[in-house]
Parts: sequence; structure tokens; C-alpha cells
Amino acid sequence: MKETITFGGISAKPGSKASGWTPVPGTDARFPVTVINGQEEGKTVLITSAIHGCEYPSIEAVFELAEGLDPKEIHGQIVIINPVNVEAFINRRPYVVPADGKNLNRLFPPDKDGTTGDRMAYVLAEEFIKKVDFHIDTHGGDIPETQPSYVYYPGISDCQEALDISEEAAQYVLHAKYMLKSRATNHAYTFSAMVGVPSLELELGECCRWSREEVDAYLENVLNVLKYLKVYPGQAVKRPAEAEIKTITEGVYLDADYSGRWYPLAGRDDKIKKGQKIGYIKDLFGNVLKEYFAEFDAEILMVVATLAIKEGDPIMAYGR
Ligand SMILES: [Zn+2]
Repeated sequence: MKETITFGGISAKPGSKASGWTPVPGTDARFPVTVINGQEEGKTVLITSAIHGCEYPSIEAVFELAEGLDPKEIHGQIVIINPVNVEAFINRRPYVVPADGKNLNRLFPPDKDGTTGDRMAYVLAEEFIKKVDFHIDTHGGDIPETQPSYVYYPGISDCQEALDISEEAAQYVLHAKYMLKSRATNHAYTFSAMVGVPSLELELGECCRWSREEVDAYLENVLNVLKYLKVYPGQAVKRPAEAEIKTITEGVYLDADYSGRWYPLAGRDDKIKKGQKIGYIKDLFGNVLKEYFAEFDAEILMVVATLAIKEGDPIMAYGR
């Protein structure tokens, strides 16, 4: 017999859906939460979106899931937080939590006594992530970023089962050019794996666009993973062998060494060679401040498209 479930103070009876705000104590932040309590028994899945507030295909797809999923069709429970980073979404602020300028996807494991972003991470960890069986965190290229679609799966945890399930689930993300095994531990989804909850981070969409095609592709990706987890009805489709996507296990994530003008010399679908010059930064008078060269032969994962660049912000990512 199913029971009423409660996440972040929002309760839903079996076969019903409830929405409301979960406060983040000690801050002005709060999370818009939708709790879907399925009619039948099954796993509990957390779907988060807009940890980065402007990655629109993911955010719109997850809005549509929260509004459109029918609890009568769900086996188990789905908990949705979207947009996680409300102030960034409303204010169109890439990368960070506006209140403290921190990247929420680098604040795990969280400091519960820190600033707004740290405390948001703490509530995500304690009230949500640690209480579920699977975590899907949805992203895409942020406002300045061009990139192909891919799926990250965690590569570090003492819980081998969580890593194995994550890697298998990644095979069910249909629209993805690459699978990336992450060595990070401070992202939301990598933290999930560290505490034994299998997880994925999906990346699709770029550069503040959001088309119907991208949103539909996103929905297909998420729903297929939910089918794989047997939370959503229907047969999950595993990616056919001939559509095998490249698995990337080593990545380089370059941040700008200076503020000024950014000139990338490789595009989102390019392959680069070891030693190749891949971009440079000039100051406002035309002096070259820094040139960047590829450390190894690699595929491009992300290129910032804006001419303006700020010291410390991402400029390019590549991997092999
Ligand atoms: Zn993101």
C-alpha cells in the first residue's frame, strides 16, 4: 500500500501531484518543487534543472515534465526542482547564483554555514539527493557557450553499484554525441554518486537558444531514462551499437586568464591536434595577453562564442 510522500515540505498522496516552495534557511532563496507520487510502487527519481539558470532546452523540457506527467502512469516517485537557481533564471545570469557569485555546480559536498549558494547545495543534498534512488541533473550550453550534446556519468565513488548503474543508464540517452566519464566530485550529480545515488548530467542545447526540436530531444532523453528505471511506462530504447557514441575519459576545461577579447580558433564540432593553437585573448588595445594550445589530440566539448571574456570564466573545453 503506497503512502503519502514528502520532499522539502511538499507532500503528495499516492496517485497525485503537489507543487510548492522549499525554503533555503538563512537565505532569500527557495526552490520550486513538484512532487509526483505515482499510483504504483517503484523507484524515486530526482530531476533537477537550472542549477545554471539559462540552459533553456533543459529548463523548458523539465517544466513540461512537471506540468505534464500523470501520477497515474508513474511507478514510484518523481521529484522535480526547476528552476533550482530561480534568481539566475529570472535575471538571465549565466553560471552562478546571483546572491554570492558562486557556481552552484561546484559547491558539493556543501558547507551548510556558507553563503547562499552553499546553503542551496546543502538543502539539495540533505532534503533531496540523499533521499532518492536516482538523480538526473539537466544542463546544456550556458548563454555564452556553443557545444554538442553529451551525457556525463560519474566516475568516482566508493559505491561501485552507483557507478555501474549510472554508466548503464547513460546508454539510454539517445540524443548525445559523447559520453563523458567524470573525475569531478564537487558537482551535484557527482556528489549524488559519492553518497551512493546513481546519476547522470545531461547536456543538450547551447547559446541561449531553445527550439522545439531541442526541447523534444531533451524530453526523449529524460523519458527514455525514466523508462530504463521503470518509473515511466514503455520499453526503454538502448542506443543501437552502430550509433555508439564516443566515450571521453579525459577532459581539459580552460578558464580565461585575463578579462578582454576572446578569439577561439576551433569550433564546436572540430577535432584538434596536440600543440595546435586553439584560441587567444587580447586586451582592449590589441595586445595578445595569452595564447592557448591543445595538450593532446581531442574533440571539442565547448567553445565560448562571445567576444567579451571575463577572467576566470570558461573559454573552451576539450577531451579524448
Ligand atoms: Zn550547466
